[in-house]
Amino acid sequence: MELFNLKDPTEVVSFSQAVKQGLGRNQGLFFPKSIPQLEDIDALLALPFQQRSVKILNALIGDELGEETVAQLVNNAFQFTAPLAHVADNVYSLELFHGPTLAFKDFGARFLAQCLSHLTAQGQPITILTATSGDTGAAVAHAFHGLPNINVVILYPKGMVSPLQEKQFSTLGGNIFTAEVDGAFDDCQALVKHAFDDQDIREKLHLNSANSINIARLLAQVCYYFEALAQLPKDQQNKAVISVPSGNFGNLAAAMIAKTMGLPIKRFVASTNVNDTVPRYLLSGLWEPKKTIATMSNAMDISSPNNWPRIEAMIEQGLVDKSLLTAESVDEDYTHMGVRQLNDLGYQSEPHAAVAYKALKRTLADDEIGIFLGTAHPAKFKETVENILGVPVALPKALADVANKDILSDAINADFATLKEYMFTKLG
Ligand SMILES: *Cc1c(COP(=O)(O)O)cnc(C)c1O
Repeated sequence: MELFNLKDPTEVVSFSQAVKQGLGRNQGLFFPKSIPQLEDIDALLALPFQQRSVKILNALIGDELGEETVAQLVNNAFQFTAPLAHVADNVYSLELFHGPTLAFKDFGARFLAQCLSHLTAQGQPITILTATSGDTGAAVAHAFHGLPNINVVILYPKGMVSPLQEKQFSTLGGNIFTAEVDGAFDDCQALVKHAFDDQDIREKLHLNSANSINIARLLAQVCYYFEALAQLPKDQQNKAVISVPSGNFGNLAAAMIAKTMGLPIKRFVASTNVNDTVPRYLLSGLWEPKKTIATMSNAMDISSPNNWPRIEAMIEQGLVDKSLLTAESVDEDYTHMGVRQLNDLGYQSEPHAAVAYKALKRTLADDEIGIFLGTAHPAKFKETVENILGVPVALPKALADVANKDILSDAINADFATLKEYMFTKLG
């Protein structure tokens, strides 16, 4: 597989390089030079999820790793299902929250962890350093926990992460080191940036970021769109409209790659909360990010989506027709309404899925099949959902278990010298 840098097309790298590097020169995103077309989609859709995912990822990554290795990585990464729940008439929810941290980020984070572990198996131990305000930390910690040759350091702002979220990433131990920083999320991010600029840390600890722009994450996410259509009756598969609750737009980019590979998705709805840079851009042609507004679908509180250049590239290259993409912004009142309406239909949901549901309903025709993505388990947004519905939300076993575990974090000040000392003490 060859990938090029969207900001500097002369930089061409292999899949392995792109995974290890994350970003290219000038912070450019890597994108495949060509996207393979899959043959006999019907036969592919008839396969079980893991087996089909091996074929999809093997077609994308190609000879570089070999089918046997790809199979091993997929089998280690995808150990949970993505069921399509029937919600009402022609509306379904693709439930992507059955992984260990109950959110769709488990798919991408676990596949990336497997790739990095494979690619560094013979070399020096690497260090993943990341800042989190909640969810990413949990997905990354669980994805890398117990993998040989990789250490993970997670920084998070003291007192600003919900207690349950904190327990999800700080109770694992082993190769997962968590530090509670006396500062805000921005301070944590600044510390991470500083560490990547520090030659000592970069070279001695073999720093890597594992962040959401890594191509391995995106490719992993392609697989569950095939799984969605595979669960529809055959005569409905080419009528599917997919509504993606979007923040950084990685998930939508993966959906478009799936279509380019031959999956007969009819069209896409990009659903955002009031942070609506993309819906406004599609109407006006002007890219005008505003100040980010806090909402209850907080994983989508992003006004400069970092995966957008990949979507733009696919449209520009003619891989996906622009007319197949509509974008809808859903405000807090409608999100609230969405959670309630879904509950009335017998489907307990959470704010991100509710945004996607409301956006879908605005555009869905009677002869289409609508699929919105359930990107998180309702229990991850327990307080919000309980406030809206006035009923208790049950904790699934994975979350209930973690509530009784001890937090293993260290406390550090928000200054770089402290972080550096901490990292060398723990990992040096
Ligand atoms: C990250 C996240 C999103 C947004 O996904 P992008 O790929 O960044 O667009 C939506 N819902 C939940 C629950 C998330 O955690």
